[in-house]
Amino acid sequence: MTMDGTLNLKGAADAPFYLPQSDECDIFAAAAAHDLPVLLKGPTGCGKTRFVAHMAARLGRPLYTVACHDDLSAADLIGRYLLKGGETVWVDGPLTRAVREGAICYLDEVVEARRDVTVVLHPLTDDRRILPIDRTGEELVAAPGFLLVASYNPGYQNIMKTLKPSTRQRFVSLEFNFPKMEHEIPVVARESGLDAERVKPLVRLANKLRAMKGQDLEEGVSTRLVVYAATLIAGGMAIERAIQTAMIEPLTDDADVKAGLRDLVTAVF
Ligand code: ADP
Repeated sequence: MTMDGTLNLKGAADAPFYLPQSDECDIFAAAAAHDLPVLLKGPTGCGKTRFVAHMAARLGRPLYTVACHDDLSAADLIGRYLLKGGETVWVDGPLTRAVREGAICYLDEVVEARRDVTVVLHPLTDDRRILPIDRTGEELVAAPGFLLVASYNPGYQNIMKTLKPSTRQRFVSLEFNFPKMEHEIPVVARESGLDAERVKPLVRLANKLRAMKGQDLEEGVSTRLVVYAATLIAGGMAIERAIQTAMIEPLTDDADVKAGLRDLVTAVF
């Protein structure tokens, strides 16, 4: 963002394709311009990671993406001493690299990570913008351009895995959802190479499957899976087979539920 409030489009031409759903690009750019950390909330496969990659390219900032998991600790983000050719050397983790370089650090599914990770994030997400590295005794001040972005899926019904208010209230938050039909059709068509007319019934089916969330399905079908199905169809696979492997099998292991979903497919196609 420049001083007059317009988006800096340095890397716009070769940014990964992202079709905005609303004003999320402007909000992200404004947050980045003011060093405000950003939290993306939404179901898996709805475009959050693509959005961050797109915005990082548009803003001309390097991006470090970390897929968080339940074994990920603060040391994985900050760095550790490693033995190299008989010598012990300090190796920066992705968060430290981002802090030093003034890059964007994206922590995907941050609630999955171990508790000690949130402790590290607190001094980085207030106006101190510091990263203390206990092991080396350094206290890094984030370089200009450093931006912390995190995502989580509030849909998972796991009380242990929700962000504490003290952490959540350190971020500007953007809610993501599956794109509206008129957005999802061109997204899937572009990503898969399948004609928009042939994508339409797949998206219609996806929306019917999403409506079943909470009844028989834990999660609705993601845009990512619709892209997979369309890609298989564009490659010559029979529609029914592609839907079975890309949009039904990934959703459930329950034979009765699968049979019910197949009936839904017959009704749509
Ligand atoms: P998430 O990070 O939310 O799990 P991703 O960003 O990986 O999901 O999105 C999954 C896929 O969906 C992407 O690889 C892309 O093909 C597609 N996608 C979803 N929404 C969009 C969008 N608005 N613009 C472009 N591609 C999108």
